[in-house]
Amino acid sequence: MRQRPALTPAVCVAAPVAFALAHIGPAATWLPGFRRRAFPGLTGQGRPGHVALTFDDGPDPASTPRFLDVLDDLGVRATFFLLGENVVRHPATAREPARRGHELAVHGWAHDRPWLPSPARDARELLRAVHAVGEAAGRAPLWYRPPYGILTSGRWAAAHRAGLRPVLWTAWGKDWRPDATPASVRATVAADLRGGGTILLHDTDHASAPGSWRSALGALPGIVRDCREAGLTVGPLGEHEVGRPDGRRAPASVR
Ligand SMILES: [Zn+2]
Repeated sequence: MRQRPALTPAVCVAAPVAFALAHIGPAATWLPGFRRRAFPGLTGQGRPGHVALTFDDGPDPASTPRFLDVLDDLGVRATFFLLGENVVRHPATAREPARRGHELAVHGWAHDRPWLPSPARDARELLRAVHAVGEAAGRAPLWYRPPYGILTSGRWAAAHRAGLRPVLWTAWGKDWRPDATPASVRATVAADLRGGGTILLHDTDHASAPGSWRSALGALPGIVRDCREAGLTVGPLGEHEVGRPDGRRAPASVR
């Protein structure tokens, strides 16, 4: 009589690990170098002479209007990735960027990390956020950027079903850090800035060190100046031609 093979500890461990990897696997696209080469559209690579400027985590009545004023002074339009829970809490602030010609996009409902897979929750929360952002914008949003750039398979599927295109970034300012300054944010962005790139900043400290938005706000004129001096125009993702095949070949370094 044949004996059933014993279930070894290795098998017991391997199953949940494989499950976790299947869930979090697409988050590997978070790795900037790899994802830029492998997924130019996902990273926000666009037309070579253009840089997309994006802000995450708002709206926030304490800080978002300050960014809108500076952007007006600079003559720049940008894309704001909003959180659904902030949109319903501050509906007037949420509408203001759209009223002033900026593009509204979806950052999710809340700023959470997807530790456990829950495709049904992902889909439900994303649809709530799409509805809230669409109400504020007066039009259906096109873009989705998950909190922390963690694009799990569940979030990916939910975005696809909601008609959203996932877009991450190619350059960030690390403006969320407590020790960030306008100079550090400008230099950090410049280090990774190329024509066709997408810049990530935050117009609120909602998920960052308290008051950290001031470093992004202070850096903004210098960042725009750096782009312009390199011959690059700055605008929203809607004008960026995201995923354009030759966007990844743009060599123009800002510094
Ligand atoms: Zn965020």
